[in-house]
Amino acid sequence: MKAIVVEGYGEPEVMRLVECEIPEPEADEVLVQVEAIGVNPVDTYVRAGAYPVLPPPPYTPGKDVSGRVVEVGDGVKKWKKGDRVYSAGTRSGAYAEYAVCHHSQIFSLPENLDFFQGAAVGIPGAAAWRALLKRARARKGERLLIHGASGSVGMIAIQLAVARGLTVYGTAGSDKGMDNIKKAGVLKAYNHSSVSYIEDIQSDCGDRGVDIILEMLANVNLAHDLQLLGVGGRVVIIGSRGTINIDPRATMAKETEILGMSLFNGSEVEMKEAQVGLYQLMSEGRLVPEISVKMELDQAPQAHRMILENGNCGKILLVP
Ligand code: NAP
Repeated sequence: MKAIVVEGYGEPEVMRLVECEIPEPEADEVLVQVEAIGVNPVDTYVRAGAYPVLPPPPYTPGKDVSGRVVEVGDGVKKWKKGDRVYSAGTRSGAYAEYAVCHHSQIFSLPENLDFFQGAAVGIPGAAAWRALLKRARARKGERLLIHGASGSVGMIAIQLAVARGLTVYGTAGSDKGMDNIKKAGVLKAYNHSSVSYIEDIQSDCGDRGVDIILEMLANVNLAHDLQLLGVGGRVVIIGSRGTINIDPRATMAKETEILGMSLFNGSEVEMKEAQVGLYQLMSEGRLVPEISVKMELDQAPQAHRMILENGNCGKILLVP
C-alpha cells in the first residue's frame, strides 16, 4: 500500500510517500480500507517534534480516517467486514491506504454522511464535545462564544451547542468563514481580524457578557476573553500556540474559570459517549461536518502548511 512516513521530526517535507506492507490487525483490532483522511493541527505539531507525546520515527502520521472495515481480529465482536466507520485514533497511522485501529478507536458512520464528512468528525468532534459538555459544563440557555468558530472544531461546536439549546456567537477570519458559521447557527458572527470586534461583542452582550468561551487561540485572545465573560463564566482553552500575559485579577470580580482541555485525558468510555452523541446529531441531520479542501496523499506537506494558515473554513482532507 501507499503511506506517508515521517523519517525524522522537522519541516513538512520530512513526510514522504512510500510503498509498504498493509498492516495486520491484532486480535482486538480491525483493518480499515481508507477512503479519506482528516488532517488535524496536532499532526503538524507532532511532525515538527513540538508536542509532549511523540511517536519515534519512522512513523505514519494522523488519527482520523474514514472507510470500510476489511479485516477483523479474532477477539472483535462489534465490527464486521463492510462496516462504514470513522476513527479517532489509529495504531498504524492515518495517512495511508489502510489503517489498523483498536476496536474502540472506530465508530459507525451514519448512512446520511459520506466518507469525506466522516473523516472530519473523530478528533474535532471529540474536542468540541469534551470542551463544551465536560469542561465547560454547558447548560441550555447559556450564551457561548466560539473564538475561532470557522475551523473543524468550531463548526462542530456551533452545531452541538445549538442542538443543546445554547445561544451561540462565533468568530471567523474571512468572509467565507463568517458565512459558514452563520449557516451553522451562530446568532451573530464577528471577524477576528477586525480591530473593533471585541468591542462589538461587548456591546452586543451588554453587562451580562457570555457564560462560556471555547478558545482556539488562547495565546492571542485569553486576556480579551476574561473581559468578555460574565459572572461565573468559563473559558475553555482548546488551542494555544504560545504565551500571553494576563491579569489574574480579571478572574476575581466575576469569579470566572480558566479551564484547559486535552483529549489525552478522555477515557475510552468518555470518547464513546461523545461519538454516540455526535452520531445521533449527524443521523438526524443536525450536525453536518464542513469540508474545506481535498488533496492527494502525496500532498501531505502542502496540507500541513495550509492547516496552519488562516481562512481554511473547515476540514482539510487527504484522499488516498
Ligand atoms: P482549524 O480547522 O485549523 O481551525 C482553526 C480556527 O482558528 C479557525 O476557525 C481560524 O479562523 C481560527 N483562528 C485563526 N486566528 C484566530 C484568532 N486570532 N482568534 C481566534 N480564532 C482564530 O483547527 P481545528 O481543528 O478547528 O483546531 C483548533 C485548535 O484546537 C487547534 O489549535 C488545535 O490544535 C486545537 N485542538 C486541541 C485539542 C485538544 O485536545 N486540546 C483537540 C483538537 C484540536 P480563520 O481561519 O477563519 O481565521
